[in-house]
Amino acid sequence: MGQTKPDVQCRARIMQMTEAEPDEAALQEAGRILQEGGLVAFPTETVYGLGGNALDPEASRKIYAAKGRPSDNPLIVHIASLDALEQITEEIPAAAMQLAAKYWPGPLTMIFRKSAAVPAETTGGLDSVAVRFPSNRIASMLIRYAGGYVSAPSANTSGRPSPTTAAHVIEDLGDAVDCIIDGGPVDIGLESTIVDFTVEPPVILRPGYINQEMMTEAIGTVEMDPGIQSETEVVRPKAPGMKYRHYAPKAELTIVSGTPENAAAKIAELAHDETAAGRKVGIICSDESAGMYPEGIVWSLGARSEETQIAAHLYGILRECDSAGVDVIYSEAFRTPQLGDAIMNRLVKAAGHRIIDADEKG
Ligand code: AMP
Ligand code: MG
Repeated sequence: MGQTKPDVQCRARIMQMTEAEPDEAALQEAGRILQEGGLVAFPTETVYGLGGNALDPEASRKIYAAKGRPSDNPLIVHIASLDALEQITEEIPAAAMQLAAKYWPGPLTMIFRKSAAVPAETTGGLDSVAVRFPSNRIASMLIRYAGGYVSAPSANTSGRPSPTTAAHVIEDLGDAVDCIIDGGPVDIGLESTIVDFTVEPPVILRPGYINQEMMTEAIGTVEMDPGIQSETEVVRPKAPGMKYRHYAPKAELTIVSGTPENAAAKIAELAHDETAAGRKVGIICSDESAGMYPEGIVWSLGARSEETQIAAHLYGILRECDSAGVDVIYSEAFRTPQLGDAIMNRLVKAAGHRIIDADEKG
């Protein structure tokens, strides 16, 4: 059995395993906990999820309570087969099936009209349901052992960065869940792309690893919700959860955009001023610029050419900023080719839309 004693004290049982060698017996036990109405946190390819039986209204209520999440913020239902999709939806447009054929299992969530099988508690009272078919093997085995339908928001307390390791989950929810499956650090590190198929053309409600261009190539026009498009203006987004100030570190975070040279010079200047004023400064940057900051605690997300690394490290480093107790944080902007929309969406929210343009003279 892959069950080990946690080195941290918490109420939840910790089950350790790897995606290459999932522990069947432990997953069966975790599936039973879910079937009986309990909560199990588990790894997916995006972030760790806080799972409950999606067809059990009481389990959904427990998820909201454990996260401290507002109950108008609907949950994503995770499935492990395409047959399961038919049970919980009313209408599946052909374009959605095409996307499913190309990107499921994977980091893509699609929204459909819900069937009567899905309780209102799971969808925050909406008549639509968000569905994802994760590719992580631990996740798909657990979903099968749980009966096929697991609602799972990110396994963080509401308002904190999403967890990318089991240690993050223990930190936030160690006493609030029954079981935590530790499958090591996740691959992607940012939540799934969400596309709404209850409208035509479909609309992206949350950018992720599967970007607008990839979807347009597969099915034609896919629009972007205006609520997530603008970095500087605050427009009310359509996904209920996207309006909350998510992913926020405790310190005030400001993004400094512009050419790499201008941004680094501006951040170094700001860090100098803040340090002189007695404040503890954190800097989030890339390998290329990490040597350009003589003052402040410097965290590199990785090389700019490795955008998957930048994405994978973002949430862990926002958590490290909290632990280090910095007062202010300055971050470079990361408009990388595939993941830029997703990375900047999370960073801009963490910064509460505070952005300085270092190219502006003034
Ligand atoms: P999380 O559970 O932390 O990954 O967040 C789930 C996101 O999906 C939130 O932003 C929700 O508002 C959004 N969502 C889930 N279900 C729906 C739905 N039926 N319609 C619109 N947005 C949804
Ligand atoms: Mg979340």
